[in-house]
Amino acid sequence: MFYRLKTDFRLSIITLLAISAILGITPFAVMRFLQGNLLAGIVDLTIMLAITAGMLYAWITGDTARSGLAMAIMACGGAVTVGAIVGEPGLFWLYPCLVTSFFLTESRYAIFINLAAVIALMVHGVAFSSAVQMWSFAATAVVVSCCAYVFAHRNENQRERLEHLATIDPLTGVKNRRSMDQELSMAVASASRTGVSYALVLLDIDYFKKINDEHGHNVGDDVLVEMVALIEQNIRKSDQLFRFGGEEFVLLMSGVDETGLRAVMHNLQHIMHKFLRHPGGQVTASFGVALLRAGETPDDWLLRADEALYKAKDSGRDRIVYADDTVVSGSA
Ligand code: GH3
Ligand code: MG
Ligand code: MG
Repeated sequence: MFYRLKTDFRLSIITLLAISAILGITPFAVMRFLQGNLLAGIVDLTIMLAITAGMLYAWITGDTARSGLAMAIMACGGAVTVGAIVGEPGLFWLYPCLVTSFFLTESRYAIFINLAAVIALMVHGVAFSSAVQMWSFAATAVVVSCCAYVFAHRNENQRERLEHLATIDPLTGVKNRRSMDQELSMAVASASRTGVSYALVLLDIDYFKKINDEHGHNVGDDVLVEMVALIEQNIRKSDQLFRFGGEEFVLLMSGVDETGLRAVMHNLQHIMHKFLRHPGGQVTASFGVALLRAGETPDDWLLRADEALYKAKDSGRDRIVYADDTVVSGSA
């Protein structure tokens, strides 16, 4: 639970808003019922229940986009209703709602919701004692919304930048091992849910240390970059390449049967033989390939590919070994 709150920013805002709404609105709801203002009390109660339902929906389904939008509408709509019923004191509720709407939903929706809320209160007009007060309210509401927009926008940019840095290998531009762990778990879950087949290829460049030692680290780096470009040109858009570490890469393919997989692997090895070079000659790689088995965990799947790769290395390198094969064939 705390992990989800820590990693999902929008879910944490939704939860914070719901808890604040329950704590903040309850005394007012009670007070309004005690004062005999039944309508305002019912409105307060409805807002609380709707916001709590939104939070539960977000926690259960994980769909924070829809629940965030719904909660931004409910919060601002609720504040407008309260302002329209109780007058001036109700106006203050709109300010926190104007701020949170930018964190609950996309900026374009938040701008629209906030403008609609301010205009609705101005058109209704009852909450204001004078025109000056109404325009002051409108101006401050716009300033608050602009500040919230700038802050939310900056926050979103930085979050995207951090996410990029945390998931992308800076040298080759492919996803790193951290993303791979997530994608493998998603592939395993998707396979058991939909029955789609998945294949995992563990690729390790042969004698890479020698390339570095003889031609320098920069040449080694160039080989890695060129190999990634070559592989990416020859796989489908839905296939994913990850840098597993050093000169090892993982290729995750979906919707492939055994025959198709062998054809793809044969083609990949052929392309690399033809185009991948370093100043001293050809660059080759060894491949361990494993089709996902029913009920298998990502770790077991990766382990089978790793064992196949080990066999490929052990039997002379520049080879493709399939996890379930007993015979190790030579290079193409
Ligand atoms: P094998 O055929 O058994 O795979 O031998 P190898 O030389 O390819 O494997 P080994 O594990 O002995 O060496 C891998 C080398 O990869 C060692 C390390 O310096 C180099 N390496 C790891 N990351 C990078 C990198 O980002 N750039 C460069 N240029 N070299 C790297
Ligand atoms: Mg290696
Ligand atoms: Mg190697």
